[in-house]
Amino acid sequence: MRITPLEDWVKQKIRGKDTGRGDGQTRLSREEIKKYQLAKLKETFSWARSRSAFYRKHLQDVEIQSLNDLGRVPFTTAGDLRRQGARFVCVSQSEISRVVTLQSSGTSGEPKRIFFTGGEQELIIDFFAHGMSTLVGAGDRVLILLPGRSPGSVGDLLSAALQRLGAASITHGPVLDAPATLRLIFEQKVTAIVGAPTQVLALARCCGDSNFSDQRPPARNVLLTTDHVPDAIKETLRNTWGCRVFNHYGMTEMGLGGGVECEAVAGYHLREADLYFEIINPVTGAPAPEGEAGEVVFTTLTRRGMPLIRYRTGDLARFIPEPCPCGTVLARMTPVRERLQGRIMLGHGEYLSMADLDEALFALPGLLDFRAVIGPGNLLQLEIKTNRMVSPPDALKAARRVVEYSGVVRRVRRKKIEFNLNVLEWQGDYLTGTAKRTIIDKREPALSQSGV
Ligand SMILES: [Zn+2]
Repeated sequence: MRITPLEDWVKQKIRGKDTGRGDGQTRLSREEIKKYQLAKLKETFSWARSRSAFYRKHLQDVEIQSLNDLGRVPFTTAGDLRRQGARFVCVSQSEISRVVTLQSSGTSGEPKRIFFTGGEQELIIDFFAHGMSTLVGAGDRVLILLPGRSPGSVGDLLSAALQRLGAASITHGPVLDAPATLRLIFEQKVTAIVGAPTQVLALARCCGDSNFSDQRPPARNVLLTTDHVPDAIKETLRNTWGCRVFNHYGMTEMGLGGGVECEAVAGYHLREADLYFEIINPVTGAPAPEGEAGEVVFTTLTRRGMPLIRYRTGDLARFIPEPCPCGTVLARMTPVRERLQGRIMLGHGEYLSMADLDEALFALPGLLDFRAVIGPGNLLQLEIKTNRMVSPPDALKAARRVVEYSGVVRRVRRKKIEFNLNVLEWQGDYLTGTAKRTIIDKREPALSQSGV
């Protein structure tokens, strides 16, 4: 098994270009990474404090001498970005080359605006190039199912990264017509695909439903990103296409990329030269004990335009203390399965999340996607979309059965919590792009408090 290519990349970023004194020969150590990260944290703190109106106040009275001191530094949140995003910026407007506006879901108001300098877009391309080298190289033909029309968009930056690897890219954008995209995959002899889990699933399940059913697509590698990846989707892709399936973690605030799996496909290796990650207890804010699950918090180490310090992501994951089978010294994090906000509290500490429903439902043959709405009360309404290989009445029955028998619903029923289920056929178009899927909460506000 090949070691993650991120290790050499992180080493080069930490030590600088090979000096010819043989620095390139010795392996990176955890101590070296930590020493570098502490130096970069200090640098980021002093830069942010001296240049940004927000941080001047936010970081007053805060000094860090060790990584442990970081626990005393106040968090930054999505709310801070919404309310005072522009006050985070540390450079003049002329140095900002891209502003990404993230609309808030729900009623929380103002969108988030994330500012990047030209140099920071280069950091993203550089990460993509090294991360993608896990699965593609010269001569590959990569289909990108992410938005890529505008300069600086994720698809555009990924395309630039692939060019550096000598790979060709087809910036397709989200799948809106699965058979047409599948035809393109065959015609263009696509060898790798990057996209959102349900979008790539739609292509795989369309395979069994179209003229291509007797042909295996040439795609050997798939990278899934933008949303959590249900095991059931990974299995379907592996079985249908005989491909390898990798998972990428990132968000715009991180500078798009946070980490990517190696050939062991056993958790993300993190982008440790650019980001410092912590896992915290989301209730107390204290660091989670080693290996325990909590909320992912990160600090940018190399961003000058809009550094983010102890930014709470709302994502839940844990570090994996055991060494990765690939043998790297880089840290490893479990794939993010749930978000704090995505948990639907049902009472008695029980909750339902999209991940629970995904694992149950995507195992059903022919299921393409589904939507979930909760309310009024604990009434869960599911609308499911299947391909033509499955008759709708059978699909509805099967969907109801798997959800009723899922672990979470059985637990809820055992505790005598009222819980009702209604399963319908999803009418109309279903391919809705690359937005994160979540359970829509239409209960009375008192019931909708999400928590842990
Ligand atoms: Zn590894």
